[in-house]
Amino acid sequence: PADVETLGRSSWTLLHSIAATYPPAPTPSEQNDLKSFMSLFAKLYPCWVCAEDFQQYIKKEEPKTGSRDEFGNWLCEAHNEVNRKLGKPTFDCSKWQERWRTGWKD
Ligand code: FAD
Repeated sequence: PADVETLGRSSWTLLHSIAATYPPAPTPSEQNDLKSFMSLFAKLYPCWVCAEDFQQYIKKEEPKTGSRDEFGNWLCEAHNEVNRKLGKPTFDCSKWQERWRTGWKD
């Protein structure tokens, strides 16, 4: 399997990209799909210690799926929680769209 760091970078790219393309005004069905996806993602994430902690986090802080910006900010906070755990700098969540949707180079 891919190492934990490579897996992590790719996975955050997938997750933030899903946030970036999520509708600004999702239907109830789209909101349910995203909630189910996040819950299964956390369950199936192929780094078991990571998955355990992330499942706990989602239980405590339910994914906010009411709009693109709501989910993007929720996800940014979730990512920051992992950043803190790993001793990495936290990210300014007011910039998540700039980083993942409208684009800048990293
Ligand atoms: P990453 O954290 O992978 O971030 C990639 C890019 O995202 C950054 O370069 C930056 O431009 C941007 N970014 C950073 N923070 C944010 C933010 N808050 N919001 C939006 N964009 C941001 N690793 C472990 O060792 N232990 C764990 O328990 C663990 N749990 C994880 C749980 C999940 C759900 C995921 C997806 C990954 C987990 N990882 C874990 C992996 C870890 O988070 C990193 O992906 C990995 O260490 C590589 O880090 P990186 O410095 O390349 O940047």
